[in-house]
Amino acid sequence: AAARKMIVGNWKMFGTAPMLAEITAIAAAPAGNAKLAICPPFTLIERAARAAQGSALAIGAQDVHAADKGAHTGCISTAMLIDSGATLVIVGHSERRADNFETDAQVKAKATAAVTAGLEAIVCIGETEAQRDNGQTLTVIETQLAGSLPDAADRLVVAYEPVWAIGTGRTPTEPQVAEVHAAIRAHLEKRFGAPGAATPILYGGSVKPENAANLLGLPNVDGALVGGASLTAASFLAIAAAV
Ligand code: PEP
Repeated sequence: AAARKMIVGNWKMFGTAPMLAEITAIAAAPAGNAKLAICPPFTLIERAARAAQGSALAIGAQDVHAADKGAHTGCISTAMLIDSGATLVIVGHSERRADNFETDAQVKAKATAAVTAGLEAIVCIGETEAQRDNGQTLTVIETQLAGSLPDAADRLVVAYEPVWAIGTGRTPTEPQVAEVHAAIRAHLEKRFGAPGAATPILYGGSVKPENAANLLGLPNVDGALVGGASLTAASFLAIAAAV
């Protein structure tokens, strides 16, 4: 397991300037046991990084292009993220896999570009409700891990996010979470050896202050990726306090 638990907020397409007050409040909170990060929209990264400067709060992005630069209208490169003050990036979120048809190969290319540039890459995987109902969860997870992860564990973070638990208020049972996290750990150890044993594995999907302590106490759960409950400093910090 990872040395310190990590709580990462994904703001999705929420947030303009007034939301920077939440960043300021999180950055000002007493340092707890967890490593904290917020991934606001691209447009807020630079201002968020400035608001978090001098604190332990890291700022990240929600996506990145795999290429260094080029004719890719509307896209953002790793160098642009670093220039804006980001130190991590989420790749392969299920909303991007669904809305933007991102494949495992594209997610791997993005993750590889990110870790090569010195960013931490949080690679998201997770089954749909139909796949779980059909008993395909572990095979789907294995395929996504095989296809989406970079070829080394440096600066790698894996996030298990069952698609049916995202934004729904539904969470898997504790044995279901533990089963998938154990399978992810086994894949990481087999593929990367000792670094795979230390790769953080986050759980994401309707994490809230009320369920955080139980989820974060499960074996191989090294932190949480939090959507809705990361939008206010109060609920984000309440989740961090559960570590
Ligand atoms: C997410 O978007 O990564 C997520 C887990 O969302 P929520 O916490 O709102 O379910």
